[in-house]
Amino acid sequence: MGPTSVISFQHLPKIELHVHLDTSLSLENVQGLIPGISSDDYYRDYVAPKHCRDLADFLRFPISAIALLQSRENLEMALLQLVREMSFDGVIYTEIRFAPLLHIDQGLTSDEVVSTLCTASKKAEMESGVVTRILLCTLRHFEVEQSMETVRLALKFREQGVVGLDLAADEGYSLNAHIPAFRMAAENNFPCTAHAGEARGPASVSETLEFLGPRRIGHGVRSIEDPELVRMLAQHRIHLEVCPSSNLQTGVFSKMTQHSIDALYRAGVSLSVNTDGRGLTQTTLSREYALIAQAFGWTMEDFLLTNRMALQASFLPSAMKEVVRERLEKGYHSPH
Ligand SMILES: [Zn+2]
Repeated sequence: MGPTSVISFQHLPKIELHVHLDTSLSLENVQGLIPGISSDDYYRDYVAPKHCRDLADFLRFPISAIALLQSRENLEMALLQLVREMSFDGVIYTEIRFAPLLHIDQGLTSDEVVSTLCTASKKAEMESGVVTRILLCTLRHFEVEQSMETVRLALKFREQGVVGLDLAADEGYSLNAHIPAFRMAAENNFPCTAHAGEARGPASVSETLEFLGPRRIGHGVRSIEDPELVRMLAQHRIHLEVCPSSNLQTGVFSKMTQHSIDALYRAGVSLSVNTDGRGLTQTTLSREYALIAQAFGWTMEDFLLTNRMALQASFLPSAMKEVVRERLEKGYHSPH
């Protein structure tokens, strides 16, 4: 793929719902946090190999970034730089996610972590014009108490920019420890998403929907293996946050032309295109669009439709959705 194909998508307004702060540190971002770090060290510690054995193997790589993101200053700088890069990539609305309990190793409280990133997201929005909201992740291997602590934080900071709860990490762990947290979110009418159907097959999507009741699924791409599930997703407008290159890296699909995004889209499933980890995967949304256009012949019309679906499925209140919608539509209809 030539650089021109990426550039041709750069100016298009985009919605990004699935992007992790800790796996999205670019070389420039890390150099801001560790002045003088060599690019060799960056590529060794902050970028995952092109082909990992599986999801669990891939998840070994965020460790350096997590170690770096343990102070207010670093958290703020990392988020500001990420949003700057997203703005350059044409993103107009994003929900950036992180697990607050991973950032308390050097003395910050979990409340301080979330309040720092809420303030940083407001600052980023003012600076870059990208409407920026936050999702808090609990992790599959966490205990009940850690999941409950995460939802408590999400509800506490819901007026400060936290718009949803997510369940992330290795799908090999059971959902049981997270049912009470997702129930608490539901009781408070607080939106949720959850990673599923990536490392494990369609059954993981079905059980996540049944036991956690999220409005969206992170990935969910292996739903394609069960036609009945695909029909159910389409019928109930369960939105899939699809991250194509990330799935190639974790070995879910061996090449882009085999990715299920096109088949799911044609089957009427609501879905969006996302990066997942911009640093770990060394990608941008413009690059993901170019790869999909190349593999499946998607046109501007298809990208407008998936962005509309993303906005519809976003956790923004409806008045704010209208503001973003106007910017989105204008970007696709103005001559370029
Ligand atoms: Zn993810």
